[in-house]
Amino acid sequence: MTPNDLKFVTDLAAAKLSEGAAERDIALVQEQLGRYPRGMVAVGARCVCGNPLAVVTRPLLPGGIPFPTTCYLTGPEVVKAVSHVEANGEMPSYTALVEQDEDVRAAYERAHELYLGFRHALAERLGDDESHIEGISAGGMPVRVKCLHALVAQSLVMGPGVNPIGDRVLERIRGEFDPAVCRCGLRADDADDANDAEGNDRKEGED
Ligand SMILES: [Zn+2]
Repeated sequence: MTPNDLKFVTDLAAAKLSEGAAERDIALVQEQLGRYPRGMVAVGARCVCGNPLAVVTRPLLPGGIPFPTTCYLTGPEVVKAVSHVEANGEMPSYTALVEQDEDVRAAYERAHELYLGFRHALAERLGDDESHIEGISAGGMPVRVKCLHALVAQSLVMGPGVNPIGDRVLERIRGEFDPAVCRCGLRADDADDANDAEGNDRKEGED
Protein backbone atom coordinates (compact mmCIF):
# COMPACT_ATOMS: atom_id res chain seq x y z
CA MET A 1 0.00 0.00 0.00
CA THR A 2 1.26 3.48 -0.83
CA PRO A 3 1.84 5.95 2.04
CA ASN A 4 -1.11 8.01 0.74
CA ASP A 5 -3.44 5.00 0.75
CA LEU A 6 -2.27 4.03 4.24
CA LYS A 7 -2.97 7.55 5.48
CA PHE A 8 -6.38 7.50 3.77
CA VAL A 9 -7.57 4.31 5.48
CA THR A 10 -6.04 5.23 8.84
CA ASP A 11 -7.70 8.66 8.83
CA LEU A 12 -11.00 7.18 7.64
CA ALA A 13 -11.02 4.59 10.43
CA ALA A 14 -10.23 7.28 13.01
CA ALA A 15 -12.99 9.54 11.66
CA LYS A 16 -15.61 6.78 11.62
CA LEU A 17 -14.73 5.61 15.12
CA SER A 18 -14.78 9.13 16.50
CA GLU A 19 -18.31 9.54 15.12
CA GLY A 20 -19.19 6.22 16.71
CA ALA A 21 -22.59 4.56 16.71
CA ALA A 22 -25.37 6.49 18.39
CA GLU A 23 -28.19 4.54 19.99
CA ARG A 24 -30.61 6.04 17.50
CA ASP A 25 -28.49 4.81 14.57
CA ILE A 26 -28.18 1.33 16.06
CA ALA A 27 -31.98 1.26 16.45
CA LEU A 28 -32.46 2.36 12.82
CA VAL A 29 -30.08 -0.31 11.55
CA GLN A 30 -31.79 -2.93 13.70
CA GLU A 31 -35.03 -1.95 11.99
CA GLN A 32 -33.40 -2.10 8.54
CA LEU A 33 -31.89 -5.55 9.09
CA GLY A 34 -34.57 -7.04 11.29
CA ARG A 35 -31.90 -8.02 13.83
CA TYR A 36 -29.50 -6.32 16.22
CA PRO A 37 -26.36 -5.16 14.35
CA ARG A 38 -23.73 -6.86 16.47
CA GLY A 39 -20.32 -5.26 16.43
CA MET A 40 -21.54 -2.09 14.69
CA VAL A 41 -19.04 0.61 15.64
CA ALA A 42 -20.11 3.40 13.27
CA VAL A 43 -22.44 4.42 10.49
CA GLY A 44 -20.35 4.10 7.36
CA ALA A 45 -22.55 6.06 4.96
CA ARG A 46 -25.84 7.91 5.14
CA CYS A 47 -28.68 8.88 2.84
CA VAL A 48 -29.12 12.64 2.45
CA CYS A 49 -31.94 12.32 5.00
CA GLY A 50 -29.49 10.92 7.55
CA ASN A 51 -30.65 7.31 7.51
CA PRO A 52 -27.81 4.76 7.56
CA LEU A 53 -26.98 3.13 4.19
CA ALA A 54 -24.03 1.06 5.36
CA VAL A 55 -22.38 0.37 8.69
CA VAL A 56 -18.84 -0.24 9.87
CA THR A 57 -18.57 -3.50 11.80
CA ARG A 58 -15.62 -4.34 14.04
CA PRO A 59 -13.23 -7.15 13.02
CA LEU A 60 -14.03 -9.25 16.10
CA LEU A 61 -17.66 -9.47 17.16
CA PRO A 62 -18.62 -9.73 20.83
CA GLY A 63 -18.10 -13.35 21.80
CA GLY A 64 -14.88 -13.56 19.79
CA ILE A 65 -16.42 -14.18 16.37
CA PRO A 66 -14.18 -13.01 13.50
CA PHE A 67 -16.08 -10.83 11.03
CA PRO A 68 -14.46 -9.93 7.71
CA THR A 69 -17.35 -7.92 6.20
CA THR A 70 -16.27 -4.60 7.70
CA CYS A 71 -18.41 -2.47 5.36
CA TYR A 72 -21.95 -3.82 5.54
CA LEU A 73 -24.86 -2.64 3.40
CA THR A 74 -28.03 -1.93 5.42
CA GLY A 75 -30.26 0.57 3.55
CA PRO A 76 -33.28 -1.37 2.25
CA GLU A 77 -33.47 0.69 -0.96
CA VAL A 78 -29.84 0.20 -1.93
CA VAL A 79 -29.91 -3.47 -0.88
CA LYS A 80 -32.89 -4.00 -3.16
CA ALA A 81 -31.39 -2.11 -6.10
CA VAL A 82 -28.17 -4.14 -5.86
CA SER A 83 -30.16 -7.37 -5.57
CA HIS A 84 -31.82 -6.47 -8.87
CA VAL A 85 -28.43 -6.25 -10.58
CA GLU A 86 -27.40 -9.62 -9.13
CA ALA A 87 -30.74 -11.19 -10.12
CA ASN A 88 -30.23 -9.90 -13.67
CA GLY A 89 -27.22 -12.20 -13.91
CA GLU A 90 -24.64 -9.42 -14.17
CA MET A 91 -22.04 -11.05 -11.95
CA PRO A 92 -20.16 -12.92 -14.71
CA SER A 93 -19.74 -9.71 -16.72
CA TYR A 94 -18.23 -7.92 -13.72
CA THR A 95 -15.89 -10.83 -13.06
CA ALA A 96 -14.93 -10.80 -16.76
CA LEU A 97 -14.20 -7.09 -16.50
CA VAL A 98 -11.84 -7.71 -13.57
CA GLU A 99 -10.17 -10.57 -15.44
CA GLN A 100 -9.83 -8.82 -18.79
CA ASP A 101 -9.33 -5.11 -18.12
CA GLU A 102 -5.89 -4.40 -16.70
CA ASP A 103 -6.84 -1.06 -15.19
CA VAL A 104 -9.95 -2.46 -13.51
CA ARG A 105 -7.97 -5.43 -12.22
CA ALA A 106 -5.33 -3.17 -10.71
CA ALA A 107 -7.98 -0.94 -9.16
CA TYR A 108 -9.82 -3.98 -7.79
CA GLU A 109 -6.63 -5.30 -6.20
CA ARG A 110 -6.07 -1.88 -4.66
CA ALA A 111 -9.67 -1.90 -3.34
CA HIS A 112 -8.87 -5.21 -1.64
CA GLU A 113 -5.75 -3.69 -0.03
CA LEU A 114 -7.70 -0.61 1.07
CA TYR A 115 -10.38 -2.84 2.58
CA LEU A 116 -7.75 -4.76 4.57
CA GLY A 117 -5.97 -1.54 5.53
CA PHE A 118 -9.19 0.04 6.77
CA ARG A 119 -10.01 -3.02 8.85
CA HIS A 120 -6.49 -3.18 10.21
CA ALA A 121 -6.71 0.45 11.32
CA LEU A 122 -10.03 -0.34 13.05
CA ALA A 123 -8.54 -3.45 14.66
CA GLU A 124 -5.60 -1.51 16.04
CA ARG A 125 -7.80 1.18 17.55
CA LEU A 126 -10.33 -1.31 18.94
CA GLY A 127 -7.77 -3.86 20.07
CA ASP A 128 -9.43 -6.58 17.95
CA ASP A 129 -7.60 -9.73 16.90
CA GLU A 130 -7.57 -10.16 13.10
CA SER A 131 -5.61 -13.39 12.89
CA HIS A 132 -8.62 -15.50 11.81
CA ILE A 133 -9.48 -13.20 8.89
CA GLU A 134 -6.03 -12.18 7.78
CA GLY A 135 -5.96 -11.41 4.05
CA ILE A 136 -9.72 -11.95 3.70
CA SER A 137 -11.70 -8.95 2.47
CA ALA A 138 -15.21 -9.23 1.03
CA GLY A 139 -17.31 -9.61 -2.09
CA GLY A 140 -14.84 -11.94 -3.80
CA MET A 141 -11.92 -9.50 -3.86
CA PRO A 142 -9.25 -9.40 -5.08
CA VAL A 143 -9.86 -11.61 -8.14
CA ARG A 144 -13.56 -12.48 -8.29
CA VAL A 145 -16.91 -10.70 -8.03
CA LYS A 146 -19.13 -12.68 -5.67
CA CYS A 147 -21.27 -10.23 -3.72
CA LEU A 148 -22.15 -6.83 -5.15
CA HIS A 149 -23.68 -5.76 -1.82
CA ALA A 150 -20.28 -5.98 -0.14
CA LEU A 151 -18.57 -4.07 -2.95
CA VAL A 152 -21.19 -1.32 -3.03
CA ALA A 153 -20.92 -1.04 0.75
CA GLN A 154 -17.20 -0.37 0.37
CA SER A 155 -17.89 2.27 -2.29
CA LEU A 156 -20.38 4.02 -0.03
CA VAL A 157 -18.23 3.87 3.11
CA MET A 158 -14.87 4.72 1.51
CA GLY A 159 -16.09 6.99 -1.28
CA PRO A 160 -15.74 7.00 -5.08
CA GLY A 161 -12.46 5.92 -6.68
CA VAL A 162 -11.86 3.08 -4.21
CA ASN A 163 -13.80 0.09 -5.56
CA PRO A 164 -14.16 0.07 -9.35
CA ILE A 165 -16.96 -2.52 -9.35
CA GLY A 166 -18.90 -0.92 -6.49
CA ASP A 167 -18.64 2.43 -8.29
CA ARG A 168 -19.94 0.89 -11.53
CA VAL A 169 -22.87 -0.76 -9.77
CA LEU A 170 -23.80 2.54 -8.07
CA GLU A 171 -23.71 4.26 -11.44
CA ARG A 172 -25.88 1.53 -12.93
CA ILE A 173 -28.57 1.67 -10.22
CA ARG A 174 -28.71 5.47 -10.06
CA GLY A 175 -32.29 5.52 -11.37
CA GLU A 176 -33.33 3.29 -8.48
CA PHE A 177 -30.92 4.34 -5.74
CA ASP A 178 -28.71 7.40 -5.28
CA PRO A 179 -27.19 8.40 -1.92
CA ALA A 180 -27.95 12.01 -2.86
CA VAL A 181 -31.66 11.32 -3.44
CA CYS A 182 -33.76 10.17 -0.49
CA ARG A 183 -36.15 7.39 -1.44
CA CYS A 184 -36.29 5.93 2.06
CA GLY A 185 -39.39 3.94 2.82
CA LEU A 186 -40.91 4.18 -0.64
CA ARG A 187 -41.32 0.44 -1.02
CA ALA A 188 -43.21 -1.94 1.19
CA ASP A 189 -41.38 -5.17 0.28
CA ASP A 190 -37.84 -4.12 1.23
CA ALA A 191 -37.43 -6.36 4.22
CA ASP A 192 -37.17 -9.56 2.18
CA ASP A 193 -34.28 -8.22 0.15
CA ALA A 194 -32.47 -6.95 3.22
CA ASN A 195 -32.60 -10.45 4.64
CA ASP A 196 -31.41 -11.81 1.34
CA ALA A 197 -28.37 -9.53 1.41
CA GLU A 198 -27.66 -10.56 4.95
CA GLY A 199 -27.53 -14.13 3.73
CA ASN A 200 -25.14 -13.14 0.94
CA ASP A 201 -22.85 -11.34 3.31
CA ARG A 202 -22.90 -14.12 5.83
CA LYS A 203 -22.00 -16.62 3.15
CA GLU A 204 -19.13 -14.33 2.21
CA GLY A 205 -18.04 -14.14 5.82
CA GLU A 206 -17.80 -17.89 6.09
CA ASP A 207 -15.77 -18.25 2.94
ZN1 LIG B 1 -33.33 8.92 3.04
